[in-house]
Amino acid sequence: MENWSAGWSRKAPAADDLVVAMNGPEIWCPEDGWTHRWAAVDGALDEGTDPVYVGDLDGRAVYVASVDPGMLLYATRPIHLREALLTMPDAPAEMLGTASQVQQWFLDHRFCGRCGGETGFHPAERARWCGRCDIPFYPRLAPCVIVVIRRGGRFLLARSSRARSHFFSLIAGFVEPGESAEEAVARETLEETGLTVTNVRYWTSQPWPFPHQLMLGFFADYESGDLVLQEDELAEADWFTPDDHPPVPPETTIAGRLIRQLKREMAG
Ligand SMILES: [Zn+2]
Repeated sequence: MENWSAGWSRKAPAADDLVVAMNGPEIWCPEDGWTHRWAAVDGALDEGTDPVYVGDLDGRAVYVASVDPGMLLYATRPIHLREALLTMPDAPAEMLGTASQVQQWFLDHRFCGRCGGETGFHPAERARWCGRCDIPFYPRLAPCVIVVIRRGGRFLLARSSRARSHFFSLIAGFVEPGESAEEAVARETLEETGLTVTNVRYWTSQPWPFPHQLMLGFFADYESGDLVLQEDELAEADWFTPDDHPPVPPETTIAGRLIRQLKREMAG
């Protein structure tokens, strides 16, 4: 994609600045492209919302705004964020993911969780702010671990009982208070599969804006135990070889990239 950098500014949009127009999890796109000029979106904003700066695309400021799609001035098409990130390799994933997270933060923190009063923009930082309680509310990030577990020439794939797709994927879960990411890998694996793992090592990370996870990708080796699935989490799980396994998530996802990397290591 073009040259994108995420950032923060309090300046109001100008007519030619760009806007990612969202309504819930859907991005409302013009026929060609992903963004609108501010001049075309001003007037379609949802009541009580403001455009929020999210970054810079090729020198042009980019904002996100909650819109009423019926009020946009020309034909638009809705694209679900998940569809864009999972099935459209040409989508500007970083920009759309950032826009969605910033919009979510704005909508979730319009009121103070302590006193219930209305929040405003913090004068100096990207935060909502309650002047009465003097509390900032920053965009929320939820660290999650995801792990590919190797057992000799095979690796573990599992299908979620909540899955919306036919993919088999990896063991994953939220890091809990007081826990390291490595401890979360061991705990989630034990809870969901009954297995213990060893040699847990971090590899890479990926923002995952559904709505605000930061996925931390790990490798681990099987140590002991038999597969006993936590039924409300996993519908099925098994060991597979690199040459013969069910469909896995695309390489736009960290799960897909972890699996690809492990297969490379196993081949080498
Ligand atoms: Zn307050």
